[in-house]
Amino acid sequence: MDLMQKLAILGESARYDVSCSTSGIDRPNQGKGVGNASVGGICHTWTEDGRCVSLLKVLLTNHCDYDCAYCANRRSNDIVRAAFQPEELADLTMAFYRRNYIEGLFLSSGVVQSPDHTTELMIRTLLLLRGRYHFNGYIHAKAIPGTGPDLIEKLGLLADRISVNMEQCTASSLQALAPQKTAQAIARPMQFIASRRQANQDELVRYRHAPAFAPAGQSTQIIVGASPERDLQILSSAQKLYRDYHLKRVYYSAYIPVNQDSRLPALSQPPPLLREHRLYQADWLLRFYHFRSDELLDHHQPDLDLELDPKCAWALRHLEYYPVELNRADYETLLRVPGIGVRSAQKIIAARRGHRLRLEELKAFNLTLRRASWFITCDGQYGAARVPPAESLRFLLADKAGMRRQSPLQLQMEDIPGVYPV
Ligand code: SF4
Repeated sequence: MDLMQKLAILGESARYDVSCSTSGIDRPNQGKGVGNASVGGICHTWTEDGRCVSLLKVLLTNHCDYDCAYCANRRSNDIVRAAFQPEELADLTMAFYRRNYIEGLFLSSGVVQSPDHTTELMIRTLLLLRGRYHFNGYIHAKAIPGTGPDLIEKLGLLADRISVNMEQCTASSLQALAPQKTAQAIARPMQFIASRRQANQDELVRYRHAPAFAPAGQSTQIIVGASPERDLQILSSAQKLYRDYHLKRVYYSAYIPVNQDSRLPALSQPPPLLREHRLYQADWLLRFYHFRSDELLDHHQPDLDLELDPKCAWALRHLEYYPVELNRADYETLLRVPGIGVRSAQKIIAARRGHRLRLEELKAFNLTLRRASWFITCDGQYGAARVPPAESLRFLLADKAGMRRQSPLQLQMEDIPGVYPV
């Protein structure tokens, strides 16, 4: 099998992993070696089904000893298998980089022999890139659950970002759908990466030239819709990951049926793309809007409302908090007003230090007045002429555009301007 055939197979095998994104780090070349890692990140492309992927996003091999129910590469599937030698993949990456096809590498792998053996092969590839070719571009490497800390250490010193895929957010679903993986085998490398990164930040303060460990942090992916977990469980898990392991991102991947398996939803089931989109919006609220998962959802309402973005849904359930007077409300309260984003809230706080705000000025603060006007007063004046009853308000706030945008494209929050819940 020639290199291009391997690339076609192993690129296709990697496409269901959504946990790659822009690099988030800036590291200029300084005249030595080849390439730069830039905040703009690795380049992306859109696949036919609308997924945003990096141009060189490959598996080292799609041979796998594991048999995860939801995965096209599982051991029990009769598919064409291929494997790169570390030298082949390093050469290919450099050839693509020099042709300007790519700006970085996203490397994952099926599990061959053991997590440690697989990781050693990945490390050999990265050592060639960083050592032989002095490749300075962005590298995102997958850490295989169950890999020992010594190898995670080596991987983290070579890669910019590491991710350990969680896939299922409860031990019972993991046991049912990925029986060779355990919650502990996933949590241990995550824990190690988090504490090693913390120690590395201290080292870098003391020694400016200390080697950086996974400077773009760690991320993970949760598959949505393959198992019975409700949105409340998924968001609570994400919140815990952000808090305990300081993850940069949790990616949500709508389950796409590729296997016939009695443990999974039927193959004819459409991927839950709108649910995935709402989870990304809710995740944004957890990270930047000071919301907690148990505020957005509870046991009476364990799933996100598909018709409303999660912030509007919260506001409609808490109309007693409104209207908010823009001249008095603190920053956290402003963030809870639909239509007011982080930057708008900051601008409002800064502007009102100098004078009392008036309704006519609000356009300058980039508010989405179409939504905010129902929830604010400014200098005692209501934003809207009259506040309709909750049911009418629900109709007015319904995210019709978001619902229209669903099929057949998967939405990636950072890729479509204006879909963040503000
Ligand atoms: S470990 Fe599971 S998810 Fe990963 S490649 Fe193997 S079968 Fe697929």
